[in-house]
Amino acid sequence: MSCIEHKTQPAPIGDDALDFNPFDAMEPRAPLKTPTDRKNGKHVKANDIPPQGVYLPNNNILAPHMKSPEYVQLSTAAAITLGIMGGRMYGCECTRCLNLLLTYPEGCRANCAYCGLARHREAERDYADRNFIRVDWPAVPMADIIDIVAKDAASSPFHRMCISMITHPRSEDDTFTVLEQWTDRIDPDAIPVSILSNPTTMSREDVKRTKDLGADIFTVALDAATPELFDRTRGKGVQSPHKWSKYWEIMLEARDIFGPQKFGAHIIVGMGETEYEVLNLVQELVDLGGHSHMFCFFPEQGSLMDHLPATPRDQWRRVQLARYLLDYRGVRVEQMRFDELGRVTDYGIPASELADIIEEGIAFRTSGCPGKFQDDISACDRPYGDSPPSDIASYPFQPKKKDLKRIRKQLDIPVTLE
Ligand code: SF4
Repeated sequence: MSCIEHKTQPAPIGDDALDFNPFDAMEPRAPLKTPTDRKNGKHVKANDIPPQGVYLPNNNILAPHMKSPEYVQLSTAAAITLGIMGGRMYGCECTRCLNLLLTYPEGCRANCAYCGLARHREAERDYADRNFIRVDWPAVPMADIIDIVAKDAASSPFHRMCISMITHPRSEDDTFTVLEQWTDRIDPDAIPVSILSNPTTMSREDVKRTKDLGADIFTVALDAATPELFDRTRGKGVQSPHKWSKYWEIMLEARDIFGPQKFGAHIIVGMGETEYEVLNLVQELVDLGGHSHMFCFFPEQGSLMDHLPATPRDQWRRVQLARYLLDYRGVRVEQMRFDELGRVTDYGIPASELADIIEEGIAFRTSGCPGKFQDDISACDRPYGDSPPSDIASYPFQPKKKDLKRIRKQLDIPVTLE
């Protein structure tokens, strides 16, 4: 079998044995019309209830003033780690990344098909109550978060903080303010900061400003692996404002301003791209000096893709392993081989070497910006952001023996008998 040349390959739909999500089967549903009285967070803004401390999703208090930069939302895992919320996470004591989201009563103004924060949801759910990457995001005063972390930043469980900008006219200015408040009190060498940017409204100057204010890594959530998929899931296809070319423009600015290994792209696997396409993109990013941060597609409840299948584990494991080899082991995509449907059939290194890398287990951990352990272990572990704990896609902890046995089965690479 040889490397395929084509960019997209039609595949059969409805075949139970299919071990990947083909393009034709992954069509988002169309967004419905939002009633006028709910557009732009109108019914929330019609209230005048002042926010009081922490807001837990589904408290149903319509607090129009609960917005950035005074307020941010943070992941359930970060809230548990900070001690703001009670709870436990399967297999992990804490998260190593303090993931923050800017927040506004009218929410994100984009409409990405796979996202729980998308604009079309204003028809049925207030922004502060929306699920995102499978979990709730409580809203908390930024000053309270800084007070807790600043008490002892050097021994904080967090190895990194990340500001997710979302798409909103105020998101640049508020990102600068949140970043400045943080770096005023917390040494960015003790807890480095990443920016998950919103390229659609950003300029080169904005990228530079995040660097000047102390950001360490700048990432772009490309999410879709091809221009066609991007348009279908985040652009014209769902009445959303994003453009593939603008995302690349800002990513290349970040490369220039932040430098090698300090920029990257988020990519969701299993939205209809082939394994060949996504791994070519990973190679392109490696060649530019950047990194790819991978997510396994999961049908987020309430999103325009919530009726579609999660990425089969076979497809996900093949891409996860191949991406790790490209990103951290110097293997090139040209060394790998693919079948006629774009699936990886050969990882381009000897079987014994591959077996050792699988055994190490790091390839199957959540990928993202690095923490303090080692370069290929992400601080951003996003516990169960792309799967339930019963069928883990990205491991937020070091996979154990039983996990590796399962992973090998999913990869269809049995243990070599010695
Ligand atoms: S821009 Fe980001 S937060 Fe907004 S809908 Fe798209 S993926 Fe979700």
